[in-house]
Amino acid sequence: MSQLELNSDLDESFEERVTYFADVILPIPLPETYTYRIPRDMEGLVQAGSRVVVQFGRKKILTGIVKEIHHKVPKVYEAKYILDSLDHSPVVNGLQLDFFTWLAQYYMCTIGEVLNAALPSGLKLTSESLIQLNPESGTGEQEYSEKELVILDALKSSDRLSFDQVSDLLGIKMIHPVLKSLMQKESILLFEQVKDKFKPKTIKSIRLADHYFESDQALQSLFEKLEKSTKQQAVLLKYLSIVRIDEATESSREVLKSDLMTEDLSASSLKTLLKNQIFIEEEKIISRLDQTIVPERKSMELSEMQLEALAEIHEGFQAQKPVLLHGVTGSGKTEIYIQLIQQALESGGQVLYLLPEIALTTQIVSRLHKVFGSELGVYHSKYSDNERVEVWNGVNNGKINLVAGVRSAIFLPFDNLSLIIIDEEHETSYKQYEPAPRYHARDAAIWLSHLHQSNVLMGTATPSIDSYQNALDEKYALVKLDERFGQGQLPTFELANLLTSRKSKRMKGDFTPELLEAIKNALEKNEQIILFQNRRGYSPYLICHDCNHVPKCQSCDVSLTYHMHNNVLICHYCGHKESVPAICDACGSTAIRTVGFGTEKLEEDLKILFPDAHVERMDQDTTRSKYSYQQIIDRFERGETNILVGTQMLSKGLDFDKVSLVGVFDYDRIVHFPDFRSHERAFQLITQVSGRAGRKDDGGKVIIQTGEPDEPLLYKIKTGDYLSFFQSEILERQNYQYPPFYRLIKIILKHKEKNVLQDAARQYVTRLIGELGRQRVLGPQEPVISRIRNLYIEEIYVKVEKKKININKVKGLIYKLGLELKQSKDLKSLRLYFDVDPV
Ligand code: ADP
Ligand code: ZN
Ligand code: ZN
Repeated sequence: MSQLELNSDLDESFEERVTYFADVILPIPLPETYTYRIPRDMEGLVQAGSRVVVQFGRKKILTGIVKEIHHKVPKVYEAKYILDSLDHSPVVNGLQLDFFTWLAQYYMCTIGEVLNAALPSGLKLTSESLIQLNPESGTGEQEYSEKELVILDALKSSDRLSFDQVSDLLGIKMIHPVLKSLMQKESILLFEQVKDKFKPKTIKSIRLADHYFESDQALQSLFEKLEKSTKQQAVLLKYLSIVRIDEATESSREVLKSDLMTEDLSASSLKTLLKNQIFIEEEKIISRLDQTIVPERKSMELSEMQLEALAEIHEGFQAQKPVLLHGVTGSGKTEIYIQLIQQALESGGQVLYLLPEIALTTQIVSRLHKVFGSELGVYHSKYSDNERVEVWNGVNNGKINLVAGVRSAIFLPFDNLSLIIIDEEHETSYKQYEPAPRYHARDAAIWLSHLHQSNVLMGTATPSIDSYQNALDEKYALVKLDERFGQGQLPTFELANLLTSRKSKRMKGDFTPELLEAIKNALEKNEQIILFQNRRGYSPYLICHDCNHVPKCQSCDVSLTYHMHNNVLICHYCGHKESVPAICDACGSTAIRTVGFGTEKLEEDLKILFPDAHVERMDQDTTRSKYSYQQIIDRFERGETNILVGTQMLSKGLDFDKVSLVGVFDYDRIVHFPDFRSHERAFQLITQVSGRAGRKDDGGKVIIQTGEPDEPLLYKIKTGDYLSFFQSEILERQNYQYPPFYRLIKIILKHKEKNVLQDAARQYVTRLIGELGRQRVLGPQEPVISRIRNLYIEEIYVKVEKKKININKVKGLIYKLGLELKQSKDLKSLRLYFDVDPV
């Protein structure tokens, strides 16, 4: 018996019908879910986890996800009816709902915000405004303008028009005055339609009508019939050149429309043939995901060291602990992952392989494809929404059991995870900054593993301080791989002294003579070179040599970045662009120069210094499109590129054979960046970049340019001594009360007016101190960049011991005090953001 029938039975036997209500999570920042009434004809259809369309407020039509169904009548408002139910089965499962609820609580945001981040936008709905003719419009003598007539004419041939279509028709953007006037004349109606954004991909196929295959006679008379129209004949002939009429089975009678209709054929002739039912057209939904990738190899036979590590990992899993695999670059971690994935899939479970960034995915993904073929789904930011929906659905319907993806892959509808791998667990790109939820995918994935009772493996050559401490505390199991796979050696390090070279005037631009010499040697031997330029806080800008004026953004407190290739100034915070001034805005001098250097400047200099070398650059600017990153990597892998200049992107898990030299610019700035994690960053970054050198046989060479060759961290990096780095770093963290011993919650306040903001921030701090004590509250302080998009910014840090303090209480308190603050009259437009465990 169906659900509906069951309900009608109930109807008869109960005097009073029970009404069902649904708590709906809306994709907007509301602190609570909202309750709606389920119409009788949707009972049974509306389930926890399914999408419904509801009205919120007077104007908004939104799609939400049902969190729960119950009988409780909301107390403070009259529940509206659900307008529509979109799914026959839930798109979000119960485990996900639990996970999303946890995320919202832990990261101090709303579940609606989590949902917004979680659902690919193809699964969200938009409401689109449409117009149609008013069936009741009088035939009376109305005066219409020319534009109005265009619209009315169009509406006679197509039932409805969207605003975009109207705008196209009229060739103008400002369509509202015209529409308003038509509505006043009661000639059109306006309504909102909710549309699904996901568009399945389709292909069109063409086949000759069946009876032509049955006898030669039929085909013969068809040719006679088409005798006069040579264009239609041409289409038929082309079809017959693809399909052998006497051999064609039913399935081989179809040809792709795109294969049939080459440019020399007439589309209108085909139309006629279709209209006369000589040809039949069919449209089919196909997958965007390549389902034809056939596995090429099995997993590799593991070395003795790898096997030992594998056994220890299993021990950790047995003890139900997350495992931290600390293995030097090139030690064969990825091959171990592959074995574990195979085992997990064979046992019937799902596997999530997290990668920090798109940068990493191309090489790893092609390695995984070789072993797992199309069983692997890929989920990352450069994918289109439609592609993401297909991965989502693939996981939901069990077609995809292995997903390699970036941080947002934790939101996918897994229902039976048996293994989560977090590759390069130390990477900060696992943390989302903007917008909420400001989550850390590594930490969230560990929570996810509790929900699924799955195993977790974190791998890295440079563990984060937090994870390593967890391992020492025996919360995680620690497994080590201290040597490179096979004959692989780790690179040797050399320092190039910037100060002495500058004094003796032997620098060429930003290159020390040592680095230049090494590049020259490597090029002569036809070996490849990677040059690393840190991006953070370091971009070229303009300065007037006469008055020191630096052009700044009008709405952000930040200097504009100079982009050489198109000669413009760009604000990296709001995107504002302006052309490079010919004269100084402040003093009128023409002595304007660029300061600082980025990857772009290095690339230019290299082309002059080594005109015969092929130089390429990899940074955010050169990798915007979907395949550009892949292409740069491919050219480098094929040896077409001699020198690759790049940013942090280069430090992430790339595996090249012929790199014999890595050059590091500007170590000093990385290590002195004002942040308590700067040493940790520096150690990780330099070790990882160096790891790109000499992967197969000899270890290759790393040259670090520095003005401080005696800087203590450098020694630890050179000797690859992670433990001694960890020990000194953890002492500092303890002494200065930082994570992992203390938790940080960052509160960000923004407002248009500086003094209102400062006043609010001071009040907040006073209240926080009142509840938490002076020790635990830092600030308020202006961040380095204190104004973005015309909003001033202040920051407050709350710092609490990890042990003995109930962090949920603290979060509740921070939240409550924030709400109270916003309630005061002049602070309505204050914006408050929370960042739990900021990095
Ligand atoms: P990591 O992930 O630790 O950086 P990889 O798994 O990429 O290390 O291994 C480094 C290199 O060694 C790769 O080129 C890989 O193909 C090779 N390799 C690793 N394990 C094996 C194995 N068991 N047999 C053959 N080659 C291996
Ligand atoms: Zn000037
Ligand atoms: Zn700006």
